[in-house]
Formats: sequence, C-alpha cells, structure tokens
Amino acid sequence: MSRVPDDNLPTGTTAGAPQVLLNHHLKQLKLPTVLREYEKVARECARDGVDHPRYLLRLIELELIDRERPTVERRIRAARFPAVKSFDTFDFTAIPSLNKMLALDLARCEYILRRENIIALGNSGTGKTHVALALGLAACQKGFTVVFTTAAALANQLLEARDEKRLLKMQRELAAVKLLIIDELGYVPLSPTGAELLFETFSQRYERGSTIVTSNLPFEDWTQVLGSERLTGALLDRLTHHVSILTMIGDSYRLKQSASRRRTAGGAEQNQATPDEN
Ligand code: ADP
Ligand code: MG
Repeated sequence: MSRVPDDNLPTGTTAGAPQVLLNHHLKQLKLPTVLREYEKVARECARDGVDHPRYLLRLIELELIDRERPTVERRIRAARFPAVKSFDTFDFTAIPSLNKMLALDLARCEYILRRENIIALGNSGTGKTHVALALGLAACQKGFTVVFTTAAALANQLLEARDEKRLLKMQRELAAVKLLIIDELGYVPLSPTGAELLFETFSQRYERGSTIVTSNLPFEDWTQVLGSERLTGALLDRLTHHVSILTMIGDSYRLKQSASRRRTAGGAEQNQATPDEN
C-alpha cells in the first residue's frame, strides 16, 4: 500500500487541515451558505453522481438565494401588498376564461423589461386581485420594485399630496416604480381632479414602467369612473398601446366556495338524519 504517511505533509499541516483552511477562506470570502452546506451537498452529489461543476453550481446558487432573500423580503414589504399570494395557490380550472399559459408566461416578468402593461377584466370574485398579487410577488422575486394600490386609494393619495405640495415628489416616486399595480378601477367613481391625477400617473409611466390594472368594468364603461370621455380615451390609448389582457369572466370563487361549503355541511346533516339509507 502506498499510503502517504502524515509525517510527509508540510510542517504545521495535519490531515484535517484542508477543511480548516477551507472553512477559514470561506469565512473570509463571506460565503456563509457555502460554508454551511458544502459537506451536505457533496454527500448528495456523490450519491447522485453529480459532477464537480454542477456541485459548485448548486452551492453557489444556494449562496445567491440566501443573499437575495432579505432584499426580496424588503421589496415585498415596500410593495404594500394587502396579502401575499402566488400562482401556487391559484386554481386555474376554476376560471376557464383565463389564459393560463399567458398568466404563467407573464409571471416570468419579461413584460416588465419591455415596459408593457397588463389589464385584468372580470366580474367580482373571479381572482383578479389574486392574479395581480401573484404577478406582483413574482416581480419582487425577479428583482423589480413594485407598488400595489387601488384606484380609489391612489387618487386620494395624489389629491392629498397635491394639497400638501408634495405632488411632484409623489409623481416622481410613482414613475420610478418598475411595476405599479392599480387594483379595483371601477368600484368607486373618482372625482374629476382625482381622475385627472390618475391619468397623469399613467401618462408619466407610459413606456417607462409597467402598470397592471384590474377592473370589474368593460372598457366602454370606464368613462363612468373617470368622468370624462376625453380622459378615458387618452388613458386607454396609453394603457393599451402595449398590453396583455387577462379575461376573467366567470362565477365568483368566493360564492362557489361558500356554496360548496354549504352543500357539504347540508350533506353531512342529511347523512346524519337518514343513517339507514347509507
Ligand atoms: P376579485 O379581485 O376578482 O374580486 P379575488 O382575487 O379577491 O377576486 O378573489 C376572491 C377570493 O377568492 C380571494 O381570497 C382569492 O384568493 C380567492 N380566489 C379567487 N379565484 C381563485 C382561484 N381560481 N384559485 C384560488 N383562489 C381563488
Ligand atoms: Mg379584487
């Protein structure tokens, strides 16, 4: 056997030295995830017959994910989502009018690089807000800044900002956001000035950033919310120049859920009342 005896190693080194040195270097290079995971991932890769470049890739990807996590979480907090929802919990079979391929493709966020917009149209409870939230979350994960608001809240905030002489600052901030999500255009009619300021927001973002709008109203009824035919035309012109439209017409998911809960509860009562029939 030609085993190298330990006393042939350079002075000051022992058999465990590579590990000690590696740990030291990884700390110095600030790669805590690689340090924590390299032995475990090495065992997994040996077991699965994964080669060295792929082993290294796995480790570096883990380091990147850990490093990105706080930034992604910060972006999610900054987006002010009313709830964090994703496509993982979205049941596409419940809403056949929605083009699933298109929705999942949009989740890759390439439209944001192209500064294109998305409009989700459909009646109440069909999952428009859920889809907008899922697209917003995907954008945060891909590294884009996102702000989520409703049309009514945004119009009010813009009016407030104007009264407090900080409208320009707010408009500049809104124009800089990579993805602005404006939920629920249509439930509340806007004041003429509110509509005008909302239009300005769209105008300032035109071909500079992406906007998602959800509405329960078809385009021809948007005048009811914005008040003026001229303003609606100009807004739609900008919004729909580069746009993907998600059609979400169907039964309300909320109503369907509660109806099926009632059926289950009713069925259970019936079963108890007529045990002989089972
Ligand atoms: P909308 O904004 O169109 O009124 P929401 O997105 O608020 O509808 O949906 C109402 C509720 O039902 C939410 O809790 C949402 O998460 C849920 N929901 C709607 N559609 C679906 C679906 N297809 N799969 C899973 N949950 C859904
Ligand atoms: Mg909604």
